[in-house]
Amino acid sequence: MLKIPLIPYPFAGEARPCPLCGADEAISLSRWDRRLKPLPQVKCARCSLIRHAAMPTEAELTEYYRASYRSDYQNMRDGPSARHIAKRRIEAARRLEALARHLPSHASMIDFGCGSGEFVEAAMSQGFSAAGFEPGADYATYASQTRGLPVENCGWQDYAPPPNRADAVTSFHVFEHLTDPVSAMRRIGSWLKPDGLAYIEVPNMAKALYKGFGCLHMAHTIGFGRYSLELLGAMADMAVVEVIDGFDIGIIFKPGTPRDIDEIMADARQELEEWTQPKVHRQYFTYTLGKLTGHRPAALNK
Ligand SMILES: [Zn+2]
Repeated sequence: MLKIPLIPYPFAGEARPCPLCGADEAISLSRWDRRLKPLPQVKCARCSLIRHAAMPTEAELTEYYRASYRSDYQNMRDGPSARHIAKRRIEAARRLEALARHLPSHASMIDFGCGSGEFVEAAMSQGFSAAGFEPGADYATYASQTRGLPVENCGWQDYAPPPNRADAVTSFHVFEHLTDPVSAMRRIGSWLKPDGLAYIEVPNMAKALYKGFGCLHMAHTIGFGRYSLELLGAMADMAVVEVIDGFDIGIIFKPGTPRDIDEIMADARQELEEWTQPKVHRQYFTYTLGKLTGHRPAALNK
């Protein structure tokens, strides 16, 4: 049922204010997701965060992940595949290199939503002290049992960090799955030393418009651009140290005074200015037709 086009997802959700800036006003972006299933998505009129028009409740998300997430999105039922692990190791090495430039050797790290543990393992292999937690039972079990890593199977609300505050907390491709990102970011702040760093990476929605609603789906409850990600840090009293801007968007933050919130939100609105429902709908078909015929549109974002 979960893969069949046009059949709605089995959740009701509830309309809520923007989970990043709290504004009620939102602009309709799409009626559909990438499986051509009805899944209305909106953009916050103030900070441009993309989100489901009706946000799933925690209970609905738990049921969705239990029933479908791995097989639905990763074609995996019995733990991570060798291909998955190989890809994650390459990503872990790249991310560690970016972060390590800002840290003393032997620094301590916590990986928030560490999946199968490749980042924790990479950090430990380079002499850092690292730990992590992961709500997905299969990934967490693989990391702790098969790889022998200090990974706990829990969500951020239940995680008990090591007694000493961390030099860095990392979170890669997790925040787009959350429904209360600001509370999660503030929790990260509470785990850090006063001069600690938070490195957050998410898919960069500002670069995804060429796919139209092909980039929108159930598991991604919210979507960030470079500036709405900066706003996430600002809401938790964190300032930007470095922006790692590629196909994905990463920001290394430190506790401190952020840039003016209104300025960040103005930048965020401008960054996603082109995202309108007619364009998001039309672009999906342009992109899909291009894939079918082997031609990718020349001006993907225009
Ligand atoms: Zn907002």
